[in-house]
Amino acid sequence: MYGKMKNHLQKEIAGIKEAGLYKEERIIVSPQKADIKISTGEDVLNFCANNYLGLSNHPRLVEAAIEGIKTHGYGMSSVRFICGTQDLHKTLEKKIAEFFGTEDTILYAACFDANGGVFEPLFTAEDAIISDSLNHASIIDGVRLCKAQRYRYKNADMEDLEEQLKKAQDQRFRIIVTDGAFSMDGNVAPMDKINKLAKKYDALIMVDECHSAGVVGRTGRGVTELFDIRGEVDIITGTLGKAFGGAIGGFTTGKKEIIEMLRQRSRPYLFSNSIPPMVANAGIAMFDMMAETTELQDKLHSNTKYFVEKMKAAGFDIKPTKSAICAVMLYDAKLSQLMASKLLAEGIYVIGFYYPVVPKGEARIRVQLSAGHEREHLDKCIKAFTKVGKELGVIE
Ligand SMILES: *Cc1c(COP(=O)(O)O)cnc(C)c1O
Repeated sequence: MYGKMKNHLQKEIAGIKEAGLYKEERIIVSPQKADIKISTGEDVLNFCANNYLGLSNHPRLVEAAIEGIKTHGYGMSSVRFICGTQDLHKTLEKKIAEFFGTEDTILYAACFDANGGVFEPLFTAEDAIISDSLNHASIIDGVRLCKAQRYRYKNADMEDLEEQLKKAQDQRFRIIVTDGAFSMDGNVAPMDKINKLAKKYDALIMVDECHSAGVVGRTGRGVTELFDIRGEVDIITGTLGKAFGGAIGGFTTGKKEIIEMLRQRSRPYLFSNSIPPMVANAGIAMFDMMAETTELQDKLHSNTKYFVEKMKAAGFDIKPTKSAICAVMLYDAKLSQLMASKLLAEGIYVIGFYYPVVPKGEARIRVQLSAGHEREHLDKCIKAFTKVGKELGVIE
């Protein structure tokens, strides 16, 4: 029976390879951190993790995870509402709300699930979802699962957003949905302007803070801090899988009744397992750390500033960034792949991105900065970029 399908899949896969779009996985044999060992035996500096605060292997979180196993066991074997809620889950939800200045929080196995489960319980065919064109795949999928009318505006384009808001005026509820920081360019959503338009056109706001939480704003509280609109966004989604320790777990935080309704009707919450106690306990330790000091944010911001300035001075074309994402523009797809492999040979692990992940003719290498990077790591990276950039004629 499988024969026909096997044939079909083999052809499809060959097609993916021919188009140069086949994804290979590089195997890391050390913990996730700034300097890692890969399976070919090389030690490389990692500039492509979402480990923005350098917490993926932080001793305090490792310790808290072990403590969580010891006091609360390994797994929950249940969804939250049956018998999958421990004191740890409730504490973590409260800490997330405190961090973002919101009313309540609901945890998910991942932010993919948070975004997948947020629209359908709240919006019907009577309503409108107005979504940024560069929003994450999980938002797109979440919107697909719901019957609301869909509107799309060009990335961070406020004129276009206003157009769409006007078109959606007849609907019952309107919600503007945007990523906080956009992962390929590093720009952030203009939340001050979005907030004004939301008020003018009577719309709710949802922000996905996956790449901005912990990173953006002086103390890392995300785009609502950066634009001084704390408490004014109705729904925030985020992940524990990036800056916040990098293990697993997602959340939706925001208005009390919204979170209450999600606990009743959100399908990834109702029909999927609870996060393990070790993850909850490490999450609690992480938010305690965030409340104590902004040391990691300070270091991340100064690392990002240093790197971007030095790279520009070396002659590279860098997209304006407000996050810890630095897009080194090359425009040519082949060049982006060649340059990334030459950088790896120099001990710098970065990824080149090209169409369809970014628009045609906008190939780039994405560098992700971290508080886990030391000045010498940054200098080594800049030096390698400069050497390879000259070899390939990217800079003079
Ligand atoms: C990474 C990411 C997600 C998914 O988060 P997970 O917790 O890994 O599922 C959702 N939205 C955005 C914007 C992201 O960058």
